[in-house]
Amino acid sequence: MNSHSIVITALLIYVIIPVLLGTYFLLRRARDRWTVLFRIVFLTTALPVFFYVPSWAMFWYPLRYIIAILFIAGIFKQFVYWTRTGWYAQGIVHWFGKGTLIGFAILFGLVSIDVFSAFNHPECVDVPAPLHDGKYVVIQGGSTVALNYHGFVEEQRFALDIVKMKWGWRASGIFPPENDRYYVWEDSVFSVCNGTVIKVVDSLPDQNPSLTRFDSINPAGNHVIVTCDKGFNLLYAHFRQGSIAVKENDTISKGAFLGLVGNSGNSTEPHLHIHAYKDSKPVALCIDGRWLVRNSRFEGN
Ligand SMILES: [Zn+2]
Repeated sequence: MNSHSIVITALLIYVIIPVLLGTYFLLRRARDRWTVLFRIVFLTTALPVFFYVPSWAMFWYPLRYIIAILFIAGIFKQFVYWTRTGWYAQGIVHWFGKGTLIGFAILFGLVSIDVFSAFNHPECVDVPAPLHDGKYVVIQGGSTVALNYHGFVEEQRFALDIVKMKWGWRASGIFPPENDRYYVWEDSVFSVCNGTVIKVVDSLPDQNPSLTRFDSINPAGNHVIVTCDKGFNLLYAHFRQGSIAVKENDTISKGAFLGLVGNSGNSTEPHLHIHAYKDSKPVALCIDGRWLVRNSRFEGN
């Protein structure tokens, strides 16, 4: 599957299908209360999935609110249909339709449990934002894989992938092929703690944005690891080639300039990856006092 067809598939699943479904359930009259009941269950379980799971800065951030309003309106509209219908027995075709609705409701219900679990976290270490210039949005973050694909690797379970957002978009285009069309490209990254630099890699090439090309041999790409004086290590990854401004064994303070956001390593597009760990175990980070999950926004400070 090339990146074009992935974008089209994502648009279909995350934008076109929910808009069509929401509009259908809003406008299409239900003929019996079973249908009404199952629609309410379906819309209630699907809402958290469509609201939280897509990376909304890819499509257009305000769309998530439009879809949520459509679904909530659809739920309220079902109560109108409820008063106009009864518990009529319907034919086999209707039961097939209802079964499909309930099947999807169970599926969405299970995903919703994982979505809400992403907000639960152990006590977090509070740090300032590592980026200072603008509005940012998390594209991977939270405690569970529904909102944070890093969860498949234990040490990175609470890792964050961060991009910059302007007018609800993280790039000019849905998935443009050039690095400089992503707003976070070459943004300055700053240390979030006082500490000592223990590792620097700075020579790997930046890649062109793509969902199929990535460097799995050097997953972190150009990166910096700092042992923070708070007692854990912090890894910043995917820097622009040749941009890292610190050296191994440097003692640095909070706010020190580390380098520029790039697209090196196992990366599909320019972004900053950070995660904290201690003895190969993940350490939960809060930024400016907040636990961030996918689609959480924060201001650079
Ligand atoms: Zn990452």
